[in-house]
Amino acid sequence: MSASVSARADAVLMSTYRRAPVVFVRGAGSWLYDDAGKAYLDCLCGVSVCSVGHANPRVARAVSEQLGTLVHVSNLFYTLPQVELAERLVALSGLDRVFFANCGATANETAIKLARRWGQQGERRRHGVISLDGSFHGRTLATLAATGQPEKQATFQPLPPGFSQVAPEDLEALAAAIEPTTVAVLLETVQGEGGVRPLGERYLQGVRRLCDERELLLIVDDVQAGTGRCGRWFSWQDLGFVPDIATTAKALGGGLPIGACLARDAVAAAFRPGDHATTFGGGPAICRGALAVIEEIEQRALLANCAARGAELRAALERVPGVSAVRGRGLLLGAVLERPCAEALVARALELGLVVNNVRPEVVRFAPPLSITVDEVAEAARRFAGALAAVAS
Ligand SMILES: *Cc1c(COP(=O)(O)O)cnc(C)c1O
Repeated sequence: MSASVSARADAVLMSTYRRAPVVFVRGAGSWLYDDAGKAYLDCLCGVSVCSVGHANPRVARAVSEQLGTLVHVSNLFYTLPQVELAERLVALSGLDRVFFANCGATANETAIKLARRWGQQGERRRHGVISLDGSFHGRTLATLAATGQPEKQATFQPLPPGFSQVAPEDLEALAAAIEPTTVAVLLETVQGEGGVRPLGERYLQGVRRLCDERELLLIVDDVQAGTGRCGRWFSWQDLGFVPDIATTAKALGGGLPIGACLARDAVAAAFRPGDHATTFGGGPAICRGALAVIEEIEQRALLANCAARGAELRAALERVPGVSAVRGRGLLLGAVLERPCAEALVARALELGLVVNNVRPEVVRFAPPLSITVDEVAEAARRFAGALAAVAS
């Protein structure tokens, strides 16, 4: 890496990130290239963002054309790409209405505000949101309050009130935590940042039943697990339940920032004009990009590829000495290591030309493009095994 870039970055950027010593200059499909021309197999893809591959030609073409036509007019007016994208998301999700935000956190803020707005109807005036230990919902103050990781919250107190957490996979604990002021349960079907921990199907269906019994909204944060990552358009779609509100973001824009909050009609109806807004959300260029992402997934049958390559990657990682288990769904997988050496392993993997990241001291996350090939899966497992052997010795 050219040391001057990191020195310049250190001089002018806030030090919020621990960055690896690489300057990427170019990408193509599943591959990234640094400023020395070295190739890396990208099994993280911007943390589940570049799901249709780097520099995807269909997305690049769609966005470029729109950039030369109309980029922004605000939400005071109609634009066709936003309407078309909403129509697609409604059809793909089975939910009824969409609000476009700018990222995962602002999509979740929208979900929380919608739940509160819904809860203010009638006599009960409810606002409380229950989420799960180990969850991750974003870095804004409200989504941080919903995030079940006390170490991330500690230095930003006081956080907005109205949020509490319970242990996952424990329906009794959830039932006991419901207060008269509770309006919603918020969860990820696979806790991504929390260590790639999938929640059980029966637990999720139990949460749905509990929400129905207690008249609570069920919000699924599909920011990381959605847009095909788990082999379905939305992660809940083969888990036997449907949420009232769902958010998605990361992969939706093919690398450009976008978030979406979807809801059932009866819930979405709680929002009235003036209740919520964004300047940039749902702009024409980004919506054209997202439409191209959806088209790419359909045309190349990437949901099926995700399921097939996901099964292959899981099996290959399970065979690597030093890996005790592999968990997750589709192409959102966590390799659980016998020893807590994930940080060193990820650094070593990078040297060997494999991009992955550590979400726990003993868990390495894989979230490659949904377009990853059979050969690339085998190559990823080979490089990972090499890195783990090097770190272990
Ligand atoms: C990444 C993530 C977020 C936050 O998204 P940003 O785009 O970084 O704001 C929220 N929820 C989940 C599950 C995520 O993985």
